[in-house]
Amino acid sequence: MHDIDVVVIGAGAAGVAAARRLMTAQIPAVVLEARRRIGGRAWTLRAPSGLALDLGCGWLHSADQNEWAAIAPTLGLTVDPTPPPWGGRGRRTIGFPSTAQEAFRAASERFFARIDAAADDPVDRPASDFLEPGSPWNPLLNAVGNYISGGELDCVSARDLAVYRDTGVNWRVTEGYGALIEAYAAPLDVRLDCPVTLIDHSGPLLRIATPRGDISARAAIVAVPASILAGGSLRFAPALPDKIAAADALPLGLADKLFLRADAPDDLPIESRLFGALDQSSTGSYHLRPFGRPVVECYFAGRLAWELEREGDGAFARVAVDQLANHLGHDIRKRLHPIAATAWGRDPHALGSYSYARPGQTDARRVLAAPVDDRLFFAGEACSTQDYSTAHGAYRTGVAAADSVAGLLKK
Ligand SMILES: Cc1cc2nc3c(=O)[nH]c(=O)nc-3n(C[C@H](O)[C@H](O)[C@H](O)COP(=O)(O)OP(=O)(O)OC[C@H]3O[C@@H](n4cnc5c(N)ncnc54)[C@H](O)[C@@H]3O)c2cc1C
Repeated sequence: MHDIDVVVIGAGAAGVAAARRLMTAQIPAVVLEARRRIGGRAWTLRAPSGLALDLGCGWLHSADQNEWAAIAPTLGLTVDPTPPPWGGRGRRTIGFPSTAQEAFRAASERFFARIDAAADDPVDRPASDFLEPGSPWNPLLNAVGNYISGGELDCVSARDLAVYRDTGVNWRVTEGYGALIEAYAAPLDVRLDCPVTLIDHSGPLLRIATPRGDISARAAIVAVPASILAGGSLRFAPALPDKIAAADALPLGLADKLFLRADAPDDLPIESRLFGALDQSSTGSYHLRPFGRPVVECYFAGRLAWELEREGDGAFARVAVDQLANHLGHDIRKRLHPIAATAWGRDPHALGSYSYARPGQTDARRVLAAPVDDRLFFAGEACSTQDYSTAHGAYRTGVAAADSVAGLLKK
C-alpha cells in the first residue's frame, strides 16, 4: 500500500464512474473494493450455457438519457431496445384478464398521480396513505411498490417516490449490465478483496485503513452502500453522526432474483410477464423468456424476499415453481430448473438491494451526499435525490464527486 492523491472506496457503478472521471482528469487514484469482483450490485453471471444473467441491475432505466447506455457501444456491447414486459399497453401479462389489467392500470395511475400531487405537501407521509381505502388492487399495488422500492408502501416516503425521475424508456445490455460496468473499470487500478474499515480524517492527510495495510490520501470518495455506513463496518474517526443518521434514514430495501431454465420453452410467450397472485402483496413477478432465452426471471421483493432469504436454500424456487404451476399447469414443474438465485440481504457488502427514504427523510439523500471538510466525498445510488436506486443514478453521483475532487485538487 502506498500514498496517493485520491482513494475511491467501492468498485460499484458509482466508484467506477468516479475513478474513470478522475482518470480523465489525470488525477492519480486507486479503488479499494471489499469483494473479489468489480460491480457491486451490478453483477452479470455467465451461466454454463453461456447465458448472461444479471443478478443485480438489468434495466437501463431512463435509457434515452442513461450514460451507461451511451457507454455500452463504445465498449463493443449491445444495447437492446425491446421494451420491458411491464411497460405500456400491449405488453402481455399472462393470467391477468385484459379488463382486470385495465382496471389495475387505472388504479395504479391514480395512486401514483396522488403521490406526485403530494410532493410539495408540508408533511411527507408514507406512500401507503395514498392507496384508495378498500380497493381490491391495494395488495398488488403494494407488490409493485415492493419491486420499485424494495420496501413496503407503509415504510416508504411518498415525497421520495414523487421526485424520482423516469423517462419511461427502459433498455437492456445483451451481454449484461454488470458486464458493462466491469468492462468500463478495465483501465482502473482496483484492489479487490480490500475492505476499508476506517477513514481517519483527524490529520492533514486521510488515513484509510484496510486489513492489507493503510493508505494516506489527500481526498477520498466513499462509494459504498448506505447500509454499510449505517451498519458500522466502515467507520470514521472522528465519527460523523449526521452522516450515519442520514444513511440510517435511507435503508436498502430488498429485491432478489431467481433464474429458472425452462425446457422446451416454445409455449412460453417471449418477453411476457406473469404475477404469481393478483390479490396478495406477497407475490413474485415472473418475466418469461427475456431476450427470447429459455429462461424465467423471477423477482421477489420486500417482506416476501426477506422471509424467503431467511428460509434459505431452495425457498425462492419452491415459491416460484408453485406460482408458475398455478398459471401454466402442473407439467411445467418438471421443465423448470434453478440456475441461480440471489440473497442481497445476506450479502455483507450490500445488506440489501436499493435505497428508499423513510417517511419524512427525503433530505437524508442530500445530507449523505454532502462532502466533509472538502476532502471526504460521498457517492452511490442513495446519494442521488432523483435517480436513486439505479445504476445510472450511482454513475451520476460518482461523476459529481470526482468533479468536486478534481476542482479542489487542481486549485
Ligand atoms: C436485484 C436487483 C435489481 C436491480 N435492478 C436494477 C435495474 O434494473 N436498473 C437499475 O438501474 N438499477 C437496478 N438495481 C440497483 C443498482 O444495481 C444499484 O443502484 C447500483 O448498482 C448501485 O451502485 P453503487 O455504486 O451505488 O453501489 P454498489 O454497486 O453496491 O457498489 C458499492 C461497492 O462498495 C463495496 N464495498 C462495500 N463495503 C466496502 C468497504 N468497507 N470497503 C470497500 N468496498 C466496500 C461493495 O462491495 C460494492 O462493490 C438493482 C439492484 C438489485 C440488487
